[in-house]
Amino acid sequence: MAQADIALIGLAVMGQNLILNMNDHGFVVCAFNRTVSKVDDFLAKEAKGTKVIGAHSLEEMVSKLKKPRRVLMLVKAGLAVDDFIEKLVPLLDPGDIIIDGGNSEYRDTTRRCQQLKAKGILFVGSGVSGGEDGARHGPSLMPGGNKDAWPHIKTIFQGIAAKVGTGEPCCDWVGEEGAGHFVKMVHNGIEYGDMQLICEAYHLMKDVLGMEHSEMAEAFEKWNKTELDSFLIEITADILKFRDSDGTHLLPKIRDSAGQKGTGKWTAISALEYGVPVTLIGEAVFARCLSSLKDERVQASKKLKGPQKTQFSGDKESFLEDIRKALYASKIISYAQGFMLLRQAATEFGWTLNYGGIALMWRGGCIIRSVFLGKIKEAFDRHPGLQNLLLDDFFQSAVERCQDSWRRAISTGVQAGIPLPCFTTALSFYDGYRHDTLPANLIQAQRDYFGAHTYELRASPGKFIHTNWTGHG
Ligand code: NAP
Repeated sequence: MAQADIALIGLAVMGQNLILNMNDHGFVVCAFNRTVSKVDDFLAKEAKGTKVIGAHSLEEMVSKLKKPRRVLMLVKAGLAVDDFIEKLVPLLDPGDIIIDGGNSEYRDTTRRCQQLKAKGILFVGSGVSGGEDGARHGPSLMPGGNKDAWPHIKTIFQGIAAKVGTGEPCCDWVGEEGAGHFVKMVHNGIEYGDMQLICEAYHLMKDVLGMEHSEMAEAFEKWNKTELDSFLIEITADILKFRDSDGTHLLPKIRDSAGQKGTGKWTAISALEYGVPVTLIGEAVFARCLSSLKDERVQASKKLKGPQKTQFSGDKESFLEDIRKALYASKIISYAQGFMLLRQAATEFGWTLNYGGIALMWRGGCIIRSVFLGKIKEAFDRHPGLQNLLLDDFFQSAVERCQDSWRRAISTGVQAGIPLPCFTTALSFYDGYRHDTLPANLIQAQRDYFGAHTYELRASPGKFIHTNWTGHG
């Protein structure tokens, strides 16, 4: 009997938690998994006492769904998604909906969306963020694809999503085709940037100011009551405080070699592909790559000398405030760059993206959730066509207010030999973006000199000329 509001395929950590979340919100979910024994295990344990039902085949699952049928997949990205789509299509009717909530590559989502549209099936690729806890209690959801599906999934999606402010859901329609997964990818890239910026602040506190773990934890706790109020700052304070079973701090014992699963890299690759200077995320990815050369760095550290170590002689409290402002200003640059990439993707693919809505989707439920994202939402509400976040009055004055501190934090760190890839690239971007004249005239001259690539004169843009620079025939 058709009794389920939605089916969910994929009973690993995300799928199970999303099912329980949907159940809490009054939706009847039919659970299915490739390894079918996991369905019975789930019904007997985690889902015991709920309204969740199960199926032992895709045919049984489909027969239990109300129409239009809604099937949400939370399976490993890649082949598994295509395999399930292939098996599902013959069982579904035109107008039924398949949703991929995994971390799929946006181009795969665009392809699936187009292929399924031709068969009358509405395909949605949704970014899901917030990990296990988010899935259970309110994730950030970023659905995109065939918009005809949205009225049929909106109540469920907005019902289970995280809520902020006066109950606004961190979920709205993102845009066409692979837009939902593109936005999720940029979210993950921004997450890389935010994490690296916090690491650079930690490095300055530790190695310039010589702060102890408890002092640093206290600083992050204080920062969490400022414009920097965010999940990542909050957990950083917790991590700094955390003591191992022997009573000493755990953090310094953790090997300084960062892992990555690839979504930061995808963002950086997209930025290069579409020619958008998303420098901060790129540097954040490279910083992880450099950190992973641990053995090589240990060797190099025995040979390569930095500046002479000196005791910090300035005002500690005031430099700590410089670091905080450097972090805030750099973060503004990172988000400005991330939204530049979204704008370019929209142009590239003909998507209509809802920028304020995207900021709201990231405002709660996900790893980069922060009060700051509320300010970004307000900026896009003020000017829906805003070309760049830095041109919004709020962000323009925030950066101006921070810039002396930002420059001081960076120059002090550089003098002390501390690597600050994201702080410095953010400042270079700001300085580049605000210059009406850059030295690229010389690049054009060089290109013309060695390759006859031609150049334009300032006085006659659009007219390309070549000069014989050596005077030889
Ligand atoms: P996962 O470990 O990525 O995937 C496990 C699920 O995929 C299981 O149901 C598994 O079925 C199924 N599966 C794997 N290979 C398959 C194949 N070839 N054919 C059919 N099914 C296959 O699970 P997860 O961590 O819950 O993540 C689910 C999706 O959400 C992934 O795309 C992930 O990237 C994304 N995501 C994860 C998180 C997170 O914090 N974990 C956050 C956001 C998004 P069996 O039980 O039969 O092996």
